[in-house]
Formats: sequence, structure tokens, C-alpha cells
Amino acid sequence: MWSHPRKHPHPSVPRQPEERPMPKKVELFINNEFVEAASGRTFPVIDPATEQVISNVSEAGPDDVDKAVAAARAAFSSKAPWRTMDASRRGSLMHRLCDLLERDLEYLAALDTLDNGKPMSESRGDLEYSVGTIRYYAGWCDKIHGNTVPCDGEFICMTRKEPVGVVGQIIPWNYPLMMLAWKWGPALAAGCTIVLKPAELTPLSALYVAALSKEAGFPPGVINVVPGYGNVAGQAVSQHKDIDKIAFTGSTVVGRRVMAAAAESNLKRVTMELGGKSPIVVCDDYGNLDEAAEVCHVAMFGNHGQNCCAGSRTFVHESIYPEFVKRAVSLAKKRVVGDPFNEKTQLGPLVSKGQMERVLGYIEKGKSEGAKLECGGARHGSQGYFVQPTVFSDVTDNMTIAKEEIFGPVQVIMKFKTLDEVIERSNNTEYGLASGILTSNINTALVYAQAVRAGSVWVNCYDIALPQTPFGGYKQSGQGKELGEDGLAEYLETKTIVIKVPTKMS
Ligand code: NAD
Ligand code: MN
Repeated sequence: MWSHPRKHPHPSVPRQPEERPMPKKVELFINNEFVEAASGRTFPVIDPATEQVISNVSEAGPDDVDKAVAAARAAFSSKAPWRTMDASRRGSLMHRLCDLLERDLEYLAALDTLDNGKPMSESRGDLEYSVGTIRYYAGWCDKIHGNTVPCDGEFICMTRKEPVGVVGQIIPWNYPLMMLAWKWGPALAAGCTIVLKPAELTPLSALYVAALSKEAGFPPGVINVVPGYGNVAGQAVSQHKDIDKIAFTGSTVVGRRVMAAAAESNLKRVTMELGGKSPIVVCDDYGNLDEAAEVCHVAMFGNHGQNCCAGSRTFVHESIYPEFVKRAVSLAKKRVVGDPFNEKTQLGPLVSKGQMERVLGYIEKGKSEGAKLECGGARHGSQGYFVQPTVFSDVTDNMTIAKEEIFGPVQVIMKFKTLDEVIERSNNTEYGLASGILTSNINTALVYAQAVRAGSVWVNCYDIALPQTPFGGYKQSGQGKELGEDGLAEYLETKTIVIKVPTKMS
């Protein structure tokens, strides 16, 4: 299937699909085998830079999800190799998988670039960070332990941390590999078994990593990958009666459906990372306006703005507003748009036609509701789903572009006067994923950091989510955490064992 695992569709390779070492068809990965979907159906995988079909992937339906869950359940049974293996050995397997990810880094990065459209430099970064995340969790495997708890009466109590069981994981297309790593790292460290549903827009890298997991030596059934559509395969996972927990990343709308399906089926545990409309605040005391503009620019345009925690509401103090906007516009105009395989490219195509149209729709709304279009504002070229880097100034909080998640390369710059005001406006949203503040005043930073209702606050930096640092949303941006020790806890149950101690020995 993956006939040339170590070769990759290099930039120098012409973009015609037949010249790429890309399988024409990739099947589902269940119980350590690639298998056809029960229906025999496939769906096309599209390169958003060329709008061409790069491969076809088997489309999982409910029967396939059943099969994957059965494999994961068998792998979770108490006598199965995965459950009887030393925890330290689980860690070794995870490190071995990371060695393979590093061996095939260029190939995998190219897969994500082909499938998602993100520039190679970003794909490589995602991959290195994914490896960092899985290695971080590999280290946890043999350090997960409960407590001995002093308690009333003639008892001793000990707690055990146990894996939650078979986990369903549904991930989005914006960071195909990284979202996999955020989900697999803690699940494998905890000792769970996995049924992963990658996004239908970007299924390739997950299937390739599944093949690597077999090569690394994971026992059959521990890792299963069932690509397919959200309302079919995704729905089958979220309402499955034999899945113990679901971890979902995606939109708030779908998150709500997943939670309802979990409630109505078997009350499986649910964690979710959803959307955001995160504020980034630039105070007049920050000092370095060039640097402030750069931080806000990257916060917005990184990954084409297709980032759940993008700094998508830029609040700038009124005294520096005009100067800031000038700099923001000049940075946006300089951003290099084009072929994501070109090493100079900073902005490739958006992931799909639908996403491009949605973003262009928001740009039209911005214009019609009276925001000032400073630059960009249209499709770039006529082939591929490219949108020009776009900046709006004079945006007010009631405008659609200030309220809804655009998920594209569109910076929205607003003006503020006082700290109290900007705190209130930062919090005036149903979301609460992330936030940032640029200030040289420690008191301003601390007051803001405590008052803002968001899962992450970045002071004098932005979008620093590290393997060690918990990440997750307040309010309708999600439930539960990923990354860090908190992320691991979401994959563990606590078992309480109470033992009676005789008061005297007879
Ligand atoms: P989406 O919610 O449509 O899709 C996400 C995943 O859910 C995909 O795998 C999809 O197939 C699946 N899905 C769709 N319908 C489903 C259903 N009825 N049941 C079960 N699964 C279903 O989101 P999208 O448009 O692909 O991605 C963009 C959104 O995701 C944005 O809103 C963004 O903010 C959010 N997102 C959040 C984070 C985060 O960490 N909080 C990260 C990335 C993306
Ligand atoms: Mn694609």
C-alpha cells in the first residue's frame, strides 16, 4: 500500500498525482491490518493547492466502526498483551513510534502539506511538536500512580489509576498529525485502546502513522483508524455503546451533537476542544510596536488562521492604534502566498473549497457591516483555495467578524481605552479558549490574566501550547484538558480500594 515509505513527494517532484509515490487507494486500519470498508465505498482526498484528487480512502460506516471497536475491546481485555505488558514497555513502544515518525518526517510532513495545504515549514513544525508530545507522554507510562489515603475507621484506602478503556477520538483537519498526537499520547500512556476518526478532509497522515504503529510493535487492536464522514463514521463512534470515552476536537456545533450522542447511548465520558474567538490585547506600554504587530500577525495568520486558538480579536490601545494598524497591514502584505511546497511560502491554500467560500463570505460581511478593509479581501489566483491575507480595522464588537469564528487569514483589529473595558470586552463571547496580552506592566498582566475567562492566557507571547502545559477551553470552547498531566487524567479512572484492618490479631 505505502510502497515507498521513505520517499516523499518532494517539492521538486512535479505535482501530477501519478508521479508521486502516493497509493491510489488507502484502506481502513483495523486490528493491525489495512482492510476495505464493508460497503466497499471510498471517498476522494483532495490537494487544496491544485484541486486534484491525490488518493482515495476507504469510507468507514457503522459496520466498520463496530469492527474497530471490537478489535479495541479485545485488545483491552485483561489478558491481552497490551494490558499485561509492563507500563515501561508501553513507553518504549511510544518512543519507538516517535523514532519512526522522525525517520519519515519529510514524507509525513509532505503528506500533511498535500492533504491540508499548509506550508512544508509548518508541517515539519507540527510533526516535531507531535513527536515531542508523544515522547512527553511516553515518559508518563510508568509514573502513573494512585495514593494511600488516610481515612476514618478501621480501614486503609488505596487508589489505583486505571485506563478508562476503549476511547473514540474524532479530530479536525487543521492540524492532522498534531491532533492525533494530542489524542494518542495520553491515551496510550494511560493504557487505553483507540478508535480514531480522522477528518474526511485530511485522512492520509493518520493512516500512514497507523502503519508505523504496527511497525513499531503495537499489538493488534490497540490502534484503529476509521476515516469517513462526520455524520456517518463520526456519529457511529459518538453513539457507540461499547466505547468508554470520546475525545472530540472540532466545531462547537458538532461538539454539541457528540455530547448528546454520548448521553443518549451509554454516558461515555466526553472531553472536547471546540472553537474560539480569542482576544489578544496590545497595551500602550508594551514599548516595541514592531514586535507587538509581529506577535499579533503570527497569532492570526499562523496555519492560515485555521487555528482554534488564533488571536482572532486584536484589541489595540487607542493611543497606538493608527501606528499598529500600519504595521499590521505591512506584515499582511508581505506574507508570501503560494505553493505550500515552495520553501518561501507562508500562506498556502485553505483546506477546502467550502472553507474558502466560508471565509470569503465573512470578508463580505465585514465590508457590508462597515469595517474598513485595509488589505486583501479576495481569493488569490483562480486555482486552489487561496485567500489573500486580509486585515480589517475600525471593527466594532457588534460586527459579525468580531463575534464569529472565521477560521481563515483575516485579522480583525479593534480599539480600546482602559484595562477594565478590554477585560469586559474580552469576556463578552460564548467562547473561552485562549487569550493574550502584551504589556510591560506586571500588574496589568496579572490583573488581565486572572480576570479573563479563557483556558490559556499568554503574556508577551501567543499560542504557546507545549506538551507539558494543559490546554482547553472555558465556556463553549470545550470541556476537559489536553496536554500536560491534566490531559493524561482525562484518560484515567480512579479506583478506590478500601481494606479493613483488624484491630487486634487473634
Ligand atoms: P467539524 O466539527 O465539522 O469536524 C471535526 C470532526 O468532527 C471531523 O472529523 C468531522 O468528520 C467530525 N464530525 C462532523 N460531524 C460529526 C457528527 N455529527 N458526529 C461526530 N463527528 C462529526 O469541524 P471542522 O469544520 O472540520 O473544523 C473546524 C472547527 O474545529 C473550528 O470551529 C475550530 O475552532 C475547531 N477546532 C478546535 C480545536 C481545539 O483544539 N479547540 C482545534 C481544531 C479545530
Ligand atoms: Mn485534503
